[in-house]
Amino acid sequence: MRKNFKRYSLLQAEHELVKLGLERYRAEQIFKWIWQKNADDFSVMTNISKELRDRFNGLYSLAGVRIADLQREDADAEKYLLELEDGLRVESVFMQEGTRRTICVSCQVGCPLACKFCATGLLHFERDLHAYEIADQVRSIQQNRGDRCTNVVFMGMGEPLLNLDAVIGAHEIISSPIGLGISRRHTTISTAGIVEGIEALLRSSVRVKLAISLNFVDEEIRKDLMPVARKNPLKDIIKLARVYSRQKEMVTFEYVLIRDINDGIRDARDLVRLLRNIPSKINLIPYNEHPDLPYKRPKDEKIEAFFSHLLHSHHTVVIRKSRGQKILAGCGQLSGSQVARG
Ligand code: SF4
Repeated sequence: MRKNFKRYSLLQAEHELVKLGLERYRAEQIFKWIWQKNADDFSVMTNISKELRDRFNGLYSLAGVRIADLQREDADAEKYLLELEDGLRVESVFMQEGTRRTICVSCQVGCPLACKFCATGLLHFERDLHAYEIADQVRSIQQNRGDRCTNVVFMGMGEPLLNLDAVIGAHEIISSPIGLGISRRHTTISTAGIVEGIEALLRSSVRVKLAISLNFVDEEIRKDLMPVARKNPLKDIIKLARVYSRQKEMVTFEYVLIRDINDGIRDARDLVRLLRNIPSKINLIPYNEHPDLPYKRPKDEKIEAFFSHLLHSHHTVVIRKSRGQKILAGCGQLSGSQVARG
């Protein structure tokens, strides 16, 4: 059975080729063909001898993700259903706002965290994605669209910090000049607040923006709606966010506004109090409703009032424009993955 060469990081690929008695630099050649020229077969790699290409084709495949379905809300919002090598499926989203073209990638098939307000949380958790399967979401969407994205967010299905090694591997491919070449400054990992994961990211040499899905300042409500909060207390998350903002990049806090649950002025006041003295940005995300979930988006006046209150704090506050709702591509709406069962 052929091994999938895409599974190798650049370093692993070098070791693999050295074991075959070949020169190290060939790994970089192949890496560029895969990630920059969308090669899905060694035969197209014209700067490698025919004899060697045939040898590689005999030993390795270059299987990647396959676009199984594409839904388009308009030219600026697309949702992709992508099939993995084993038949499992995940969703990725493309969104354009002005010159900013963002691809939101999934890191797991389903999500083990089961936040009650999120459609992905309703799915079974199947498995973690490999680094190449995460990076390949970006590559295949770019290839399909015929353009390049400017930003990548690890914010689709799954919790990136529970699959950190693969996320770091994917980040390397995405940001490498011989990979997809997207600026590190334009990549963001979004977490529901995994304390150990944030600590590991702090210890690593990776420079990536961090977004924390805070959503509820009341610890009891947070524990109820985000079960992950039972083992990851807010005080620890806030402490680490402060360190991350100082040592790496300014943290963004995401706050999904849900009608009658966390959209009152008292909640806004508590949020400002909690984030006092942390250099950070707050993204307000009016809830994207989903037919399988009972939660509602607050009325516009309530969203405005919440926003105005935060404007008087020392934070940059943005109301995230909801995109892709008609095709259920908004935050928390991804639920279309299909599972290949034997
Ligand atoms: S909000 Fe994020 S962490 Fe929570 S269930 Fe959905 S995908 Fe998982």
